[in-house]
Amino acid sequence: MSGNGNTIFSLILSGEVPSHKVYEDEFVYAFLDINPLSRGHTLVIPKVECPTMDLLSEIAASALGMALPKICRAIMKITGAENYNIIQNNGEKAGQTVPHLHFHIIPRYPESTHSFVWNPSPIDHSDASKLSKAIFHELG
Ligand code: AMP
Repeated sequence: MSGNGNTIFSLILSGEVPSHKVYEDEFVYAFLDINPLSRGHTLVIPKVECPTMDLLSEIAASALGMALPKICRAIMKITGAENYNIIQNNGEKAGQTVPHLHFHIIPRYPESTHSFVWNPSPIDHSDASKLSKAIFHELG
């Protein structure tokens, strides 16, 4: 995964590849996924080329954060879906196929059958105590 330029999303942003646009502002672009899990499945991307969330600038993150709820509201209103998932994959092994950061907004309808694999196990409190302190310290 290259992580810069020349992804299909860069070509969508430049207009070289067509897309079904649903939203655009100075920093953010949103369009319908070409292989939707459900009707209205939308991708929301920063205009800046950035592969994963940890590398995103604060200004682009702020713009995405402000745009997402608006886009969700519009999708729910127009599609009639009352439930939805937001999925955001980072890295190939995490399921990311396009190395340009993107949020999936995926409406769920009563008849929807799509699923996300999630096999949780109970937390190890001893490890969690060390882990949370280390992350907290890193963020301090
Ligand atoms: P991910 O697997 O999280 O990287 O998701 C990439 C998404 O981009 C997939 O759901 C694809 O269907 C979608 N996608 C790839 N090419 C296009 C395109 N040209 N227009 C719209 N969506 C696309």
